[in-house]
Amino acid sequence: MNINSICVQGGYTPGNGQPRQIPIVQSTTFKYDTSEDMGKLFDLEASGYFYTRLQNPTNDFVAAKICQMEGGTAAMLTSSGQAATFYALFNICGAGDHIVSSSSIYGGSYNLISVTMKRMGIDVTFVDPDASEEELNAAFLPNTKVMFGETIANPALTVLDIEKFARCAHSHGVPLVIDNTFATPVNCRPFAWGADIVTHSTTKYMDGHGAAVGGCIVDSGRFDWMAHADKYPGLCTPDESYHGVTYAEKFGQGGAFITKCTAQLMRDLGSIQSPQNAFILNLGLESLHVRMQRHCENGQAVAEFLAAHPKVTYVNYCGLPGDKYYDLAQKYLPNGSCGVVSFGLKGGREAASAFMKNLKMAAIETHVADARTCCLNPASSTHRQMTDEQLAQAGVPAELVRMSCGLEDKEDLIADIAQALEKC
Ligand SMILES: *Cc1c(COP(=O)(O)O)cnc(C)c1O
Repeated sequence: MNINSICVQGGYTPGNGQPRQIPIVQSTTFKYDTSEDMGKLFDLEASGYFYTRLQNPTNDFVAAKICQMEGGTAAMLTSSGQAATFYALFNICGAGDHIVSSSSIYGGSYNLISVTMKRMGIDVTFVDPDASEEELNAAFLPNTKVMFGETIANPALTVLDIEKFARCAHSHGVPLVIDNTFATPVNCRPFAWGADIVTHSTTKYMDGHGAAVGGCIVDSGRFDWMAHADKYPGLCTPDESYHGVTYAEKFGQGGAFITKCTAQLMRDLGSIQSPQNAFILNLGLESLHVRMQRHCENGQAVAEFLAAHPKVTYVNYCGLPGDKYYDLAQKYLPNGSCGVVSFGLKGGREAASAFMKNLKMAAIETHVADARTCCLNPASSTHRQMTDEQLAQAGVPAELVRMSCGLEDKEDLIADIAQALEKC
């Protein structure tokens, strides 16, 4: 199936007389006839459901759809994008390990890696995603376990050279994890460019209606853990907390990562997505391919309008010829990038706040990738904890306005922006 058909029909194939729509299995637990039956599930000897914190059929149908969309071998849903990022990294890193991460990433991921994971004894080196391969290679240490970046960074809108990152990661024997939230698999499939694991905040375009917070992790099944067994003892040596199972042996290259992530991290940390939210997410996925087209069309129209406006000092949108990331976008995002545009105004921070206050259609929200257009000044909200220097390093200068173009009519959006610009 083409990605457009997978969005609609992937993950769930009802049998004769079964519900056409994915059933919501709103049950914490599952019934068994004998203790022996259940014991086999606990030992990972048989597959089946026993407790929704570990697995739930609704979630599994939706995870299977996203897995197909990305072209992976296994996937799991999480309660949020933050949980997905944390689990994907923590599944292969522990105290004493090191991460190489693009500096141009989502503010929440930046904090997670630089503050919270640091407290767990995991170090990070942030690299400029535009740095040369030589510079990127210099960031790796003997204890580096993973490289991380975002296809289109939120909110800097940097387009990542995924092939370059994958080459660096693989030359050091570590996997590349890519947050593919903004592009979605409709516009970019990072596995095709060498990424090993993909994460999503499904809260954004995948849900697309501002209705349900969620996340997802997908494994490409292509990273050979056993070839780097010394680096990944958690996958390549027996797990005493699971009766001595060695994930990479028992579940193979295609299943080890997600099975371990479910069996250990979901079991112990419990950031499961509710089946109700998974159902809502699936409704979003069914139209993702159609909506992405409109988000991109509106983003392009708004970016072009802003770029020609005398009060606008700069516009970041990789679909604009002349944008720093235009060439990379032509390669990695030939069908469009996303609906998010960012820009600066002549009057700086004050003008940004006056402009946003005067918008009628676009609401001020800590959200993006929604059917309804919204905007944000990251420096005064999501990135509040960062210094001006860190903001500049992350590609989010203090005056930057991020506008997430929704699914409304583009003429209406432009008229709203025009009247707000007139008043600032
Ligand atoms: C929003 C977002 C996250 C975090 O996701 P939540 O669902 O809000 O926890 C991670 N990465 C990117 C790129 C995001 O936009």
